[in-house]
Amino acid sequence: MFQPVRGTHDFLPEEMSKHLLVIEKARQISCCYGFEEIQTPIFEFSGVFHRLGETSDIISKETYSFEDRGGEALTLRPEGTAPVMRAVLSNGLTQNIPLKFFYQGPMFRYDRPQKGRYRQFHQIGAELVGPAVAEADAEVIALAQALIESLKFSDEVMLHLNTLGDKESRALYREALVTYFSKYQQDLSKESQTRLEQNPLRILDSKDAKDQKLLTEAPLFGDFLTTEAQVFFEAVQEKLNLLGVSFHLNPRLVRGLDYYCHTAFEFVSEALGAQGTVLAGGRYDGLLKNMGGPDLPGVGWAGGVERLQELMSLEPQKQVLISLIPMGAEAAGVLFKLANDLRKSGFRVDLGYSGNMSKRLKKANRLQAKVAVLLGEDELESRQVTVRDLETGVQNHVAFEGLKDYLKEILQSRKESFS
Ligand code: ATP
Ligand code: MG
Repeated sequence: MFQPVRGTHDFLPEEMSKHLLVIEKARQISCCYGFEEIQTPIFEFSGVFHRLGETSDIISKETYSFEDRGGEALTLRPEGTAPVMRAVLSNGLTQNIPLKFFYQGPMFRYDRPQKGRYRQFHQIGAELVGPAVAEADAEVIALAQALIESLKFSDEVMLHLNTLGDKESRALYREALVTYFSKYQQDLSKESQTRLEQNPLRILDSKDAKDQKLLTEAPLFGDFLTTEAQVFFEAVQEKLNLLGVSFHLNPRLVRGLDYYCHTAFEFVSEALGAQGTVLAGGRYDGLLKNMGGPDLPGVGWAGGVERLQELMSLEPQKQVLISLIPMGAEAAGVLFKLANDLRKSGFRVDLGYSGNMSKRLKKANRLQAKVAVLLGEDELESRQVTVRDLETGVQNHVAFEGLKDYLKEILQSRKESFS
């Protein structure tokens, strides 16, 4: 028997409706903030992602890369920012800044599978290209915050905020980190020893316990910021305060990809442990230029849909279900046709294929139907059905012709939409 590939999973209907709810909320709220949805292919030339930095884990260890039958080196997208920037360049959109894009879809990473961590997972994301001002950072963060709020988490989700400064600040900080960690080189994890040579900043993102311990004493980025970077960070905080977005300054926060600068942020829930980061992002001013485009700044975020749907308490609202229940073969034939008419008018209708009345009523209850439409042999002649409210038990005889209007009325009186 086949099993799904390790790290992949099926969404059964209940999960799927939560999944869609997250995406739908994100879509709606992004739209309110002026972001338009775009979609890029799920694979790209591998070079697109190498621009993100060879020393980031996502690129060096987690990509699904392959050669296609034509010999092209391709990679299943591990994230959405690089493909969106590639699309901006290949479609010549850089003349129309600011660009505000929302996207959603599957991502692929050869990650270590566990709860909240998969090899095929889904992200929603927003990118804002063009403005280099703090308002842009605050706007994308406020969008994320509005989304998080709308999903109603049972545990608190905290916004962690940091700055990764500009190039100059990073060079200074890098030096300080190298000086500090060189003293403890032997105590670092193997991976971080390599990072120390290639990209010492990445040590800050290490999940290794030994590294974590050394990190508590490590120099802090904040002490190496240039005045410019400091001023920008303060402006972002000021705008967030203005919008009423509360945050927690976290000087240890870094981002998984090499191209981030200035603002870095994560929305973290206590609930999923190490997988508690539900949404993360930051500013990536050098990326477009690095990809061969103009030197345009950008800021954005990506949220993990699986993690968001797992932690939210917002429940998908399903349309009210009406169960049609025939007694006898002739009645079944009539309801078969009636079901189709009702469905075409926008009602959500269930009609089983077999079973006696009590079995069918049980099933209607299991499906949480709110209304049952019963048709017995003796009612065929008078062309009437019995409509039963399954919650109150109240029932009425209704003529075939008047059924649609009657159902509309009772659903509206329950303040529930029928379509
Ligand atoms: P982590 O530190 O947990 O590996 P990351 O820095 O690799 O996260 P990002 O690249 O910032 O994650 O992706 C944004 C969001 O996408 C994450 O906050 C998370 O919610 C989600 N995400 C990332 N990787 C996975 C995965 N393998 N499975 C499920 N969701 C993921
Ligand atoms: Mg990761």
